[in-house]
Amino acid sequence: MENKPEFTIVAPVYNEIESLAEFYTCIAEVMDQTGEMWELVLVDDGSTDGSTQLMKDIARKDPRVRPVIFARNFGHQIAVTAGLDYSRGNAVVIIDADLQDPPEVILELIARWREGYQVVYAVREEREGETWFKTFTASMFYRLIYKITEVKIPQDSGDFRLLDRTVVNVMNQMREKHRYLRGMSSWVGFRQIGVPYKRAARYAGVSKYPLKKMIKLAFNAITGFSFLPLQLATYLGFLVTGLSILALIVIIVLRLTGSPVLMGQATTLMAVLFLGGVQLISLGIIGEYLGRVYDEVKGRPLYIVAESPEKE
Ligand code: UDP
Ligand code: MG
Repeated sequence: MENKPEFTIVAPVYNEIESLAEFYTCIAEVMDQTGEMWELVLVDDGSTDGSTQLMKDIARKDPRVRPVIFARNFGHQIAVTAGLDYSRGNAVVIIDADLQDPPEVILELIARWREGYQVVYAVREEREGETWFKTFTASMFYRLIYKITEVKIPQDSGDFRLLDRTVVNVMNQMREKHRYLRGMSSWVGFRQIGVPYKRAARYAGVSKYPLKKMIKLAFNAITGFSFLPLQLATYLGFLVTGLSILALIVIIVLRLTGSPVLMGQATTLMAVLFLGGVQLISLGIIGEYLGRVYDEVKGRPLYIVAESPEKE
């Protein structure tokens, strides 16, 4: 009897008791306009404020709501991952449960999906009700990530996005523990497009993303998609070694011309600088190998095929 829904909405929930009922109502109102079957997967990320019970109550009244309840708080990215695992729709929309991502925008995402795009990410054009600190750090963060990572992760787009079933299946195969879903969904490729939207203020409650969690997310983004931190030692090493060789030449010239400048300390200084540089380079080399080991351990698929002839 089980009919597969066309759309799955995935929303992570961590202590959102004040927003949850309103969120459900808005989603139902918007999704009913599509005229298709849909489901709402609510992932309770270890709430302690009664969100869990409320979620179960909503699900009892509306079987389209499917609660996945975590044993403790595992963090936003893991909660969304679980939502993707439980999703059954042909298109899956990830959205925050605090109504900062306006549910109406889902219809625009769906429209693009129907045109054939497989990843439709929502791009924040404006942010409302957030501190300048959050807006500033977020903006710096997106620019930094964009510069240092190989995959071009669209700037100013959060996890609010629509993913085609094909993309969800690929992402579900990537079981890396430190997850940066935006990066992963860019990394997979396929036909991607952005849709601009205005990020609203929170409906109720406060952000569950304190600075500590934001920094953790930034680290996951950088380490998950770039070796740059590991390679820094190499760059620094070459710089120091190069400079010390240059200085060595200068000293030799000084000695040959009989100048008393830097008398006595030069050899020690050179030895320390040169060795320091060599050590940094060696560290960098270890970093390169470590980076490669890390890449293997992540176990991402080597390639992702969008279309291919029959294998036989
Ligand atoms: N969230 C979660 N686990 C966490 C932190 C947040 O599931 O550990 C959920 C939260 O309930 C919300 C979404 O992730 O639905 C985004 O969090 P929040 O609104 O606090 O982040 P912000 O919008 O301030 O960046
Ligand atoms: Mg929010």
